[in-house]
Amino acid sequence: MKLEEHPPFPWQQSMWGTLCSQFESQQLAHAFMISGSLGTGKKLFVREFAKFVMCMSPDKGLACGECRSCLFGEESGHPDISLIEVEDGSRDIKIEQIRGLSNFLSQTSHAGRAKIAIIADAHRMNFAAANALLKTLEEPTAHTYLFLVSHLPGSLPATIRSRCQKLFMPIPTAEVAIDWIKRHLADQEDPKAHALAARNCPLLALELAQSGGLENQIQFLQKLKQLSVGKTSIQATATLAVKLGEQAVIGYLLEVSTILIKYLLTNQQPSESESEYQDLLAWFRRDGVASAQMPRRLMQFYGLAVEAQRQLMSGSNPNPQLIMESLLWRWSQLSVLRQAA
Ligand SMILES: [Zn+2]
Repeated sequence: MKLEEHPPFPWQQSMWGTLCSQFESQQLAHAFMISGSLGTGKKLFVREFAKFVMCMSPDKGLACGECRSCLFGEESGHPDISLIEVEDGSRDIKIEQIRGLSNFLSQTSHAGRAKIAIIADAHRMNFAAANALLKTLEEPTAHTYLFLVSHLPGSLPATIRSRCQKLFMPIPTAEVAIDWIKRHLADQEDPKAHALAARNCPLLALELAQSGGLENQIQFLQKLKQLSVGKTSIQATATLAVKLGEQAVIGYLLEVSTILIKYLLTNQQPSESESEYQDLLAWFRRDGVASAQMPRRLMQFYGLAVEAQRQLMSGSNPNPQLIMESLLWRWSQLSVLRQAA
């Protein structure tokens, strides 16, 4: 995704301020864990901050964008900044990549300033890679900074997390999100609908707009409603899920569960922005007998969905259709169990 606008975006200002003042007082921590929801622009933010640290004439706490160092960053990548992420065709971040990173950090800075390594989607490091990183974290060298970026920080070993300073990227308010999305969407597209679909995570909203994800989400929700009332089969729903992308579909399932749990616990009607969940909620509430148990069952389902997400990301060659079928079977059982109660 190529944006005209550079971070810090409006909802990132406070974190930017924190890092800037640490840097300006020469107290920048050696390692950071930047977490927060998918689509809040964490990686873009960290790359821009790295650019700022390297900038030869920063202006009012921002990279100038014009010096040799800044231009370097725009084109081929700055020689003192290293970005590690899952390589194309690979499921995880591998030990060789982390060894390369340690090697990079141990060399002297080209520009005589600092060295910065960024690990995007850090939760996707495999076991060996995470272990190798731990060694690097235990022996920090002067003027080297490591940024781990992840929307699933809980999946990282506690030994790694405890060695990082933790910063949390917030989700903007609906107003801020819609305003920002509007500036980046084509005129004919509806910023409010995209903000809603992405739960106000602005970069996710842009991605949904580019990939047709909004339509996919609506399509899957329809199918899930049919499955809940027994009007379609588990296989047909799983086939659609694989077609739309298992990871995206598990994301929708986590979201639907979260929303249903919220309304079942508070006993309220969905807000206008979540009215598409109205009939699903009515189905889960329909005779009230098992309603006290329903949130708990949905929470268990949520746990299973997170586990399925891990399996799909693991390097063990999982069968996506099978994983989706098993997960959707559990979903269909939610209302069966409910009838029996
Ligand atoms: Zn500059």
